[in-house]
Amino acid sequence: MSNQEYDVVVVGGGNAALSSALSAAEHGARVAVLERAPEEERGGNSAFTAGTMRAVYSGLEDIKQLVPDLSETEIAETDFSSYSEENFFDDMARVTRYRTNPDLCEILVRGSNQALHWLRRQGVRFIPVYGAQSFKVDGKRKFWGGVTVGVVGGGVGLVDYLYAAAKRAGIDVYYQTEARSLLQTDGVVHGVRAEIAGKKTEFQARAVIMAAGGFQANADWRTRYLGPGWDLAKVRGTRYNTGGGISMALEVGAQPYGNWSGCHATEWDMNAPDFGDRMVGDRFQKHSYPFCVMVNNDGRRFVDEGADFRNYTYAKYGRVILEQPGQVAWQIWDSKVLHLQRDEYHIKGATKLRADTLEALVARMEGVDAKQCLATLREYNAAVKKDIPFNPNVLDGRGTQGLPVPKSNWANTIEDGPFEAYGVTCGITFTFGGIKINTEAQVLNMADRPLPGLYAAGEMAAGVFYFNYPGSSGLTNGTVFGRIAGRNATDFAKNH
Ligand SMILES: Cc1cc2nc3c(=O)[nH]c(=O)nc-3n(C[C@H](O)[C@H](O)[C@H](O)COP(=O)(O)OP(=O)(O)OC[C@H]3O[C@@H](n4cnc5c(N)ncnc54)[C@H](O)[C@@H]3O)c2cc1C
Repeated sequence: MSNQEYDVVVVGGGNAALSSALSAAEHGARVAVLERAPEEERGGNSAFTAGTMRAVYSGLEDIKQLVPDLSETEIAETDFSSYSEENFFDDMARVTRYRTNPDLCEILVRGSNQALHWLRRQGVRFIPVYGAQSFKVDGKRKFWGGVTVGVVGGGVGLVDYLYAAAKRAGIDVYYQTEARSLLQTDGVVHGVRAEIAGKKTEFQARAVIMAAGGFQANADWRTRYLGPGWDLAKVRGTRYNTGGGISMALEVGAQPYGNWSGCHATEWDMNAPDFGDRMVGDRFQKHSYPFCVMVNNDGRRFVDEGADFRNYTYAKYGRVILEQPGQVAWQIWDSKVLHLQRDEYHIKGATKLRADTLEALVARMEGVDAKQCLATLREYNAAVKKDIPFNPNVLDGRGTQGLPVPKSNWANTIEDGPFEAYGVTCGITFTFGGIKINTEAQVLNMADRPLPGLYAAGEMAAGVFYFNYPGSSGLTNGTVFGRIAGRNATDFAKNH
């Protein structure tokens, strides 16, 4: 067995881990990052993201600081909107059904804007995410939903920027290094037992930060904690987040916390591979569903596609699809709104059908009760409130009337061909259960007291998200708490 010594050892190699490591190095620590994946698969779920980040901002001036090279035309043609602390708090409270831990939520919300500026100082570059978060109406683009910027190059871009910054900061990165357990003496955590490509190694440290993701890539844990059927979900991101980090922390006395039966799960191509594909990234998702109608194999609608902006419904609709017969559904599109489809609808290999008539389309939707489906569409068409104007940039109230499953906004009839249909299933993104931390990112024991020397951030530090999630909060959450964990772990290391 070989031995290594550091001030701070960080377990994980995604955004929360790298934010923690960079913060620790910034405060003067000698830092090691242990990444379970090989270098070419580094970065965890963070590498699969679009790189979009939810943060409080006051308007154009704030966006200009994050994106200093905005052109005059971009500025003239765009309403960048704004997103206040109150907006972010309201969104968190509403989507988590008031379960979010108020102290942790406050840290996330109030730290969000500075987190993006701090990332910029680490070399991360941002751009406005026009395609995903705005539509052009009457010549002007308008942002909606609290998400306005993303990282250049998406998730892989973010991860590359962070690893480049880590290199500049002199942080040692160990790839193919799976942390197995924590070293703890007299209650104080002082290192990590790991295997580097199968070889046992001990990393001695003065403090350890856990940022090893959730347990979504573990079919056994999924079924155990999320319930029956979750073994059948596809994993949208990395195969390496199997709950190992959570187990290690629980073994030394960390408190299980948060929404262990909850997760973030979305509509995902029904023929996508079992785990994420880095070349495709997040584009197996089909996130323009507010503008179409969805039916299950019984040929019936089952969810309000237009209940809210996509950012506030997509993370809970994966579960709704998992509950449908065969764990699948079909999105049915009319030609009037095809131009509103996001880029991901146009990838090679998407499960897509196209036909000039609805009868021809529905006949090709394998497994679907065609007669019932056509009846559902006729009933839906008759229920659309056609007198209300359609506007994708606002909750337009152009819904349906009298249907057992309403559509609340953006309802258009499905009657003008050519028509398209997309087959989707449930893709799990990350789990909401994990271990408890306080506002200083210290891991807490069963009595709510800090476990000396142990810190955590990111997906595995639970208590922020329950049931649902305001889109693009995950990366921000990892950076906000990673910064705190890095600073406090370094303080602890200096004083012990
Ligand atoms: C397809 C997709 C799209 C997404 N889009 C967005 C988006 O645009 N914006 C957004 O904010 N969020 C998005 N998310 C959510 C986001 O990915 C997560 O919230 C965020 O990346 C979590 O960061 P993390 O560092 O906690 O976890 P991860 O980035 O998953 O990192 C966990 C790390 O731990 C490592 N690891 C696991 N076990 C061990 C072990 N035992 N030893 C050592 N290392 C270990 C893994 O290899 C990995 O490097 C998306 C997720 C997916 C899957």
